[in-house]
Amino acid sequence: MTLHQTPAAARSHVPQSHDIPALLALLGDVPVITEPVVVRRRSRDFFWYSPILAEELKDVRADIIVQPRDEADVIRTASACARLRIPLTVRAGGTGNYGQAMPLAGGVLLDINALSGIVWQKPGVARARAGTNLLALDQEVRAGGYELRMHPSTKRTATIGGFVAGGSGGVGSVAYGGLREPGNILAARIVTVEEEPRVLELRQDAAQKVNRAYGTTGIITELEMPTAPAWPWIDVIVAFDTFEEAFAAGRDVAHADGVVKKLLSPIAWPIPSKFGALKRACPEGQAILIAMIAEPFLESFRAILAGRGTITLEAPSEEGPGQVPLYEYTWNHTTLQWLKTDRSVTYLQLLYPHDRLEESVMQMKALFEGEVLPHLEFIRFAGRITCSALPIVRYTTPERLNAIIAEHESHGVMVANPHVVSLEGGSRHKRADADQSGFKAEVDPMGLLNPGKMASYVPVR
Ligand code: FAD
Repeated sequence: MTLHQTPAAARSHVPQSHDIPALLALLGDVPVITEPVVVRRRSRDFFWYSPILAEELKDVRADIIVQPRDEADVIRTASACARLRIPLTVRAGGTGNYGQAMPLAGGVLLDINALSGIVWQKPGVARARAGTNLLALDQEVRAGGYELRMHPSTKRTATIGGFVAGGSGGVGSVAYGGLREPGNILAARIVTVEEEPRVLELRQDAAQKVNRAYGTTGIITELEMPTAPAWPWIDVIVAFDTFEEAFAAGRDVAHADGVVKKLLSPIAWPIPSKFGALKRACPEGQAILIAMIAEPFLESFRAILAGRGTITLEAPSEEGPGQVPLYEYTWNHTTLQWLKTDRSVTYLQLLYPHDRLEESVMQMKALFEGEVLPHLEFIRFAGRITCSALPIVRYTTPERLNAIIAEHESHGVMVANPHVVSLEGGSRHKRADADQSGFKAEVDPMGLLNPGKMASYVPVR
């Protein structure tokens, strides 16, 4: 028996004392890790991006890591946890923010990584096991002339299951929108957490019940994802005197539907000063636009620039061993590049209103000049072009951070707050999706899956 001190949110309905010997007996030959140092190390994700969560979650750890080899092992583990009322938190690549994969109430950390590989693929669709690494998945799909429509900037370390359960969009969202858009997740296969677990196939809209639910609505074992015709991608950096010019160039390319692109990220100075390996492409004092353009459309890209800015880098995208792809300077990697040398900053996750995009971006820039440093990602959102943003924030106090968030919201900029652990707080709408919370009662009636993350859930059993 073990007893953990866990954050209050997770303590409400889940027993604090877990009968690990009884669990081991029920698991039989399912591989486990009990070595405390390893268990503690793997009980962590990228929660520390937030100075608030870094303090709040520093002592969180699971009791045991269970490493299913296949779906049968997942079912056996889910059943054992349900019988013994032991909490279960899925962990994949462990790159999540918001403490998404942190086992707040201890118990089992279910390492899903061995469930990997493509189940089948055909032109336009690939079905893969949840623990499949995104780079490996993309490379295998590319061999057949297709590629993933989108991936997070953590493609080299994250999994397809972790992306769907914890992410929102990324490289490719400028063309296809986020994971929430219809058609971007075709189906999910899940295991429920009950004494007799069920295996459910969720197709189309129903698959959204597991999207960004932080693994609280079932253990995903397989996903069916759309793919797109593969392009030879060219990485480009364009430097501009001002952020306003970088934004305008990005906007013009984003609106050019005939130009095939995967990434358009305007980034204000001094953020590029932290991009050590790209130093020569990031002139002192200048804003940059990072872009990924399909090779046949480079000429059109340059034509849209019409002499604006200076192209400082133009090279085929590389993501092989030893290569740092350019997209690892965008999305939430921008924050990481800064954090490598200076832990005093943090970040926010924003969505700007599409109908007054430029006005809103520049208004926030002016309001927090020098304190909130702009870094935007052009995306499609419900059929329109807008910007998601992961600005760097010079952190002072929790009160100031909350004031910055409130000010953005009062100006109509939506904030997914990465400084709280609940998916309600981390959602732009500050609530769990109605479908997701209703579904949780069906698939996790005792509230054992990643307790404390869907804070509004009241167990039905
Ligand atoms: P984990 O971190 O292991 O898990 C994430 C969540 O999913 C957890 O709640 C976990 O319990 C749950 N989960 C994982 N697998 C399963 C499963 N099989 N069944 C049920 N639940 C499961 N996110 C983006 O959307 N776009 C980005 O561009 C992006 N860039 C990032 C850059 C950096 C540097 C960092 C640190 C994070 C970034 N993120 C981004 C967040 C994160 O990387 C992504 O969400 C990523 O896809 C998570 O995958 P993972 O395999 O690491 O999942």
